[in-house]
Amino acid sequence: MPLTAVRRWHADLAWLPGRGVHSGVLIEASGPRFTAVTPGVPPGDCPPGTIRLAGFTLPGLANAHSHAFHRALRGAVQAGLGTFWTWRERMYQVAGRLQPDSYLALARAVYAEMALAGVTCVGEFHYLHHDAGGARYRDPNQMGRVLIEAAAQAGLRITLLDACYLRGGLAADGAPIALSGVQARFGDGDGARWAERAGQLGADEHGMLAAHARAGVAIHSVRAVPADQMHPVVAWSHTHGAPLHAHLSEQPAENEACLAAYGVTPARLLDRAGALGPRSTMVHATHLTGDDIGLLGGSRTVACLCPTTEADLADGIGPARALADAGCPLSLGSDSHAVVDLLAEARLTEMGERLASGRRGAFRAEELAAATTVAGHACLGWPEAGEIAPGALADLVTVALDTPRLAGTQASSALESVIFAGSAADVRSVVISGRDVVAGGRHLLVDDVPAALDAAITPLLSP
Ligand SMILES: [Zn+2]
Repeated sequence: MPLTAVRRWHADLAWLPGRGVHSGVLIEASGPRFTAVTPGVPPGDCPPGTIRLAGFTLPGLANAHSHAFHRALRGAVQAGLGTFWTWRERMYQVAGRLQPDSYLALARAVYAEMALAGVTCVGEFHYLHHDAGGARYRDPNQMGRVLIEAAAQAGLRITLLDACYLRGGLAADGAPIALSGVQARFGDGDGARWAERAGQLGADEHGMLAAHARAGVAIHSVRAVPADQMHPVVAWSHTHGAPLHAHLSEQPAENEACLAAYGVTPARLLDRAGALGPRSTMVHATHLTGDDIGLLGGSRTVACLCPTTEADLADGIGPARALADAGCPLSLGSDSHAVVDLLAEARLTEMGERLASGRRGAFRAEELAAATTVAGHACLGWPEAGEIAPGALADLVTVALDTPRLAGTQASSALESVIFAGSAADVRSVVISGRDVVAGGRHLLVDDVPAALDAAITPLLSP
């Protein structure tokens, strides 16, 4: 199909961000972008060749926080009582075994799983930079390029968030801990060397690495990057207009160590480093002070919540409503991929508020849907995606309403049904940049996604 081909779809029901749910929506695209969106069109009035989208259609979903290799840990880290140490031991085992070929196979399969779940763009928070001994590959960005290739093969867009990761953490008294063992793969030595390597990724003046790939940067966390080494990352973001992400206050111990080391909270430390602002996204943002929430909201920093991972790792429940009220756009990520289901992330955002507050009704379904579409894409540097509107990138995710979970859905509350009861398994078709990637629940580029996942993961977990 030529890139400029005109395509038309007719959605039984579609959620148009800012415009609500409409029936009979005629959607037209030329190549990768929408050209017209017209609600209320009877099926008989559609031009010949129009494709019917039966069910409920959303814009593309953005998975704003991913560590692709963590997918191999699913289930295995729940063995026995599934303690934190079970998780950590398995994570380092997998991180120690991956090589470029095996990482390509794993990431391709993981991104294909995401596409089946309606994800059209992934923010890959990438820190597995070097070989198993910590030496640079001949191309020092080989592992990053593998992730970009994996996204291409799975049909997704990607923002490669190249993470600066320089030390193993902070002790409780604030003393720095050196990288050791498998962690040697993560480190570049110092911020300047990180920047020198990231510069070799070859981003153009718009921060693009390929038509489907954008460059972003990350400060892994205040534990992993000393305050005096953050500047090169912040500067890289400014120079390239690139998104800047960081893990923030995921667990109370991080806050305590940061206070011991610097006398301020992680949010205050990142603010002093110039790392907050509308182009920045703080991941988790779970254990915050009122002052932290004011800093994040006042600077319009995005908060990326990962509720299924935060539950899985016993991180706690973050102040999602307070962050939104303070001015933070919210986005969502599946992070460790305990499950890959952005509808579940959206639902758990509200459920966490309910469990923590004892009250229903913190977020409307529309706000939760916006977090995983419009806001998610924007925080990954793709403000032209995540909407069904003329000019936007032509991404469509259609959820079947005739599944056991969603049968009985009424048009007037269809968005609520999909957010509060739908799952990744209900996604039937996915269009990304005007191209079919999933049809009839099958991935069109990766023939057998379960087999691809199985083949990639089994060798990584063998004794
Ligand atoms: Zn993470």
